[in-house]
Amino acid sequence: MTATEAGAPRPIAIVGYGKIAADQHKPSIDDSPRFRLAAIVSRNAALADTPSYRSLSEMLSAAPEITAVALCAPPQVRFAMAQEAIQAGRHVFLEKPPGATLSEVETLRQRAAENNVVLFASWHSRYAAGVAPAKSWLAAQQVREARITWREDVRVWHPGQEWIWAAGGFGVFDPGINALSILTEILPAPAHLTRAELEFPENRDAPIAARLAFDGADGAAITADFDFRQEGPQTWDIEVRTDQGVLTLKEGGAKLFIDGVERQDSETLASEYASLYARFAQLLDEGRSDVDLAPLRHVADAFMLGRRIQTDAFYDER
Ligand code: NAP
Repeated sequence: MTATEAGAPRPIAIVGYGKIAADQHKPSIDDSPRFRLAAIVSRNAALADTPSYRSLSEMLSAAPEITAVALCAPPQVRFAMAQEAIQAGRHVFLEKPPGATLSEVETLRQRAAENNVVLFASWHSRYAAGVAPAKSWLAAQQVREARITWREDVRVWHPGQEWIWAAGGFGVFDPGINALSILTEILPAPAHLTRAELEFPENRDAPIAARLAFDGADGAAITADFDFRQEGPQTWDIEVRTDQGVLTLKEGGAKLFIDGVERQDSETLASEYASLYARFAQLLDEGRSDVDLAPLRHVADAFMLGRRIQTDAFYDER
C-alpha cells in the first residue's frame, strides 16, 4: 500500500495560475484531507511557500513524487499539457471545458487508459447545491419546457482575458457551458440542438451572445439565452416546467425552488470545488476516469448549426 492509499494527502500541482486557480483550486486543495499542494506551474506567478516551476516539463522531470496535476490554463493549451502529463504517468484533473474540441478530449481519454492514469473532466456547476436535488425531483417527471437564462457582464467576470475571445476560447459559451453541464445532468432524457444564433463582435473570433433551441424527449421545448453584455443584476437561471410543477435553479444552481418555494439550505453543503476534489480523490481510489462530453457536444453543435451574426466590436475598456 502506498502512503497515499494509507491516508497521507496526495501531492498535486496546479498548472496555470490565473483566476480560478487562485480563487478556488488552491483554497480547495489546502482544505482537502486528500491532497497537498506540492507545486504550481506558472509562467508568471510564484508562491512563497510552494515550489513554483516555469514550465510543466520542468516540473514533471524535477518532481516525480507529484502524481497528479490540475490543469487550470485556458482550453486552447489544455490538450498539450494534458497529453504531456499523461505521457509522464500523472493523473489529470481538467478544468472545464475539458478541451477546445471533442476529438482532442477523446484522444486524452484513450491515452489516459493506455497509460493507466485517471482523467477527470470536471464540471464544477454540477456540484452546485441545488443540482443533485433538482435531478432527483425531475427523475420521474415529464419535462414540457425548459428555459436557460445565463447573462453576465464579461468585463466584470473575465477582465483582460484575451484567450476567451480567441478561436477555441468559447466566448460566451465559457460560462454558457456551465448551464449546459447542469442541463445535461438534471434532464431525465437527452436533448439535441435544433437551432442556434451566435453573435460575434466584428473584432473577435468567439461569440458574445448565443440563443439556442433544443428538442427534448416527448417534444419538450428547451431554449438557452447566453449573453456577455449584461450590466446590473446578473442572471444564471434555469427554469423547467413539467407535468407536475415548475422547478427553478437560480444563482448558477446554488438555489432550488419548486413552484416558487425554496427547497434547501445551500449553506450546509460543501462548495463546488471541495466536491470536485472529493470526486477526484474517489476516482483515484477507484482507478477510474470520468469524462462526460455531453456539455461540450452541445457547444460543438451550436458552432456547427448556428447562424452567425456580426455585431459591434468589443473592447475591454468601455
Ligand atoms: P485566467 O485568469 O486567464 O488564467 C488562466 C491562466 O492560464 C493564466 O493565468 C496563465 O497562467 C495560464 N496560461 C497558460 N498558457 C496560457 C495561454 N496560452 N494563454 C493564457 N493563459 C495561459 O483564466 P481563468 O478564469 O482562471 O480560467 C481558466 C480556466 O478555468 C478556463 O477554462 C475557465 O473556463 C475555467 N474556469 C474559470 C472560472 C472563473 O470564474 N474564472 C470558473 C470556473 C472555471 P500562468 O501565467 O500562471 O502561466
